[in-house]
Amino acid sequence: MITLPNEIDILIIGGGPAGLSAGLAAAKSGFETLIIDKKREIGVPIQCGEFMPSPKEIPNILPEATHTRLLENYPKDIVICETKDIIIYSANGKKYVIPFDGYVIDREKFDKWIARLALRAGAKLSLSTTALEIKDSVVTVSTRGKKINVSTKVVIVASGTLTPLLDGFPIKPKFSEYDYSHVYQWVLGGIEVDTTVVEMYSGTRYAPGTYAWIIPRGDDMANVGLGVREPFNKDGVSIGEYLHRFMHEHPIASNRLKSGSPLSIVGGLVPAAPPLETAVYNNILVVGDAANMAMASIGAGVPTAIISGELAGISAVKYLENESPLAEFDELWQKEIGETLKNGYRIRVMMDPVLKRDDFINLALDILGEKMLYDIIRGRIPKILDVLYPIAASIMK
Ligand SMILES: Cc1cc2nc3c(=O)[nH]c(=O)nc-3n(C[C@H](O)[C@H](O)[C@H](O)COP(=O)(O)OP(=O)(O)OC[C@H]3O[C@@H](n4cnc5c(N)ncnc54)[C@H](O)[C@@H]3O)c2cc1C
Repeated sequence: MITLPNEIDILIIGGGPAGLSAGLAAAKSGFETLIIDKKREIGVPIQCGEFMPSPKEIPNILPEATHTRLLENYPKDIVICETKDIIIYSANGKKYVIPFDGYVIDREKFDKWIARLALRAGAKLSLSTTALEIKDSVVTVSTRGKKINVSTKVVIVASGTLTPLLDGFPIKPKFSEYDYSHVYQWVLGGIEVDTTVVEMYSGTRYAPGTYAWIIPRGDDMANVGLGVREPFNKDGVSIGEYLHRFMHEHPIASNRLKSGSPLSIVGGLVPAAPPLETAVYNNILVVGDAANMAMASIGAGVPTAIISGELAGISAVKYLENESPLAEFDELWQKEIGETLKNGYRIRVMMDPVLKRDDFINLALDILGEKMLYDIIRGRIPKILDVLYPIAASIMK
């Protein structure tokens, strides 16, 4: 275990993809960089479906992004499956096949790989270390039963969805109950799986306000999970009950799933909100899920966490080298991932009225068809749909 310093150049709170990639970018420049995480192990437990766009798909989703190195060149053993299609099932079971080059990655190995790169670049990492409060330039942390004040020139907040560390700050994201999903997932073993396909199931009976997924993890194992947004939860049952129902009662999915057993169980929160308008306040930068930098339409946040983290690390370094103000971070992330994140939120808002009823879902997917779904899944809004956004937004108000 390292001894925590009382002073540091750059302190990063959170060792998920956003914090680790920030740590790597910051440490490469030679500034003293410390990453802390309250967990005991990087990448564990895996709170992720582990589905990512392949390097080939990244420019289709994030056409302006240039800081994508960590999303393009990871070691081969991190990739568990290469998938070719996403199949979306309507509430009535009709299926839509969308070509999409995806990777299912081992998130534990992926996170540990970035952590190792950051350490090699000179960053320090302290586990079982919780940030309690940020005040001016001092972060109070708790580790091994002790409270320590760490004075820092830049703080990068990478502590995930609904982080309480931003309470009281003007940049704290404002959430309504529509703006996040509770998610719950089993790694299900002993089932038959097509390793080239990711499946997404819609329907108010199984995943109210979101969707359920089957993501292959080999030919007899898959990440099977779903999200629930509370305002859509008419049955008022727990998220675990919804997953049980999906596994045992869904007319299509249950045929394969009901013979399986969970090998692990995880839950979490995923932002379905717009990204922060500004992710900079004094010497604080906010990245990844903590800044709602995830695709609100589908709940995917690893690529945008990696890119926003790297940009925050670079911005911190340029600030410490007196090259540019910290506020430049806002320009950088908005340029590289801002448009896709905003589109993701607009798609979510347009889908909100539809997700209230199964017949609306069936009709909407029929109207969209595979051609428009091809764009939507990549965070692009077909022109014809753009006119619907203000209507959907006013219905939901
Ligand atoms: C079940 C589930 C399935 C998902 N599936 C996918 C998927 O298939 N593809 C995809 O792209 N995205 C998926 N996501 C979303 C994705 O996991 C997140 O968008 C991504 O992990 C965000 O990275 P992050 O670094 O911003 O935050 P996180 O990964 O949440 O990391 C935050 C870190 O901060 C630490 N932390 C929190 N508070 C403190 C504190 N006070 N002090 C110290 N440390 C702290 C936490 O321990 C954690 O390690 C899924 C999420 C869930 C929950």
